[in-house]
Amino acid sequence: MCRVCQKRPEIPDERSGRCEACVKAGRMALRFRLAPGPGGAGLRVKAGEISPRALRQKWLSQLQAYGSQPQPRPHLGLHEAELVVAKDHLETIRVAADLAGQVPAVLEALRQAAARTDASW
Ligand SMILES: [Zn+2]
Repeated sequence: MCRVCQKRPEIPDERSGRCEACVKAGRMALRFRLAPGPGGAGLRVKAGEISPRALRQKWLSQLQAYGSQPQPRPHLGLHEAELVVAKDHLETIRVAADLAGQVPAVLEALRQAAARTDASW
């Protein structure tokens, strides 16, 4: 199943596990793993498919402007969240079911991560 749309079969051997339509549209799912924040308050990003620096360069302003409500999705594992992007546009944010009750904290963690300039997590 395509990692991005979860609707169509992926192309065999496609690097990111995507279907033809998503590849053509330049759509990608960038996945992040979250953990409890310092002192157990809130959440922080622990790892991600792109570096903090890349997240900052490409997605900081759109993350800050993001006004939709991220939706829980069953394909995500514990404490995972992902940005679905199409070329240079942030389309949507999806969160794991266990984070459904912490959506504001997820957004805050992603925005804080995007404010970092580190090359790695
Ligand atoms: Zn797809």
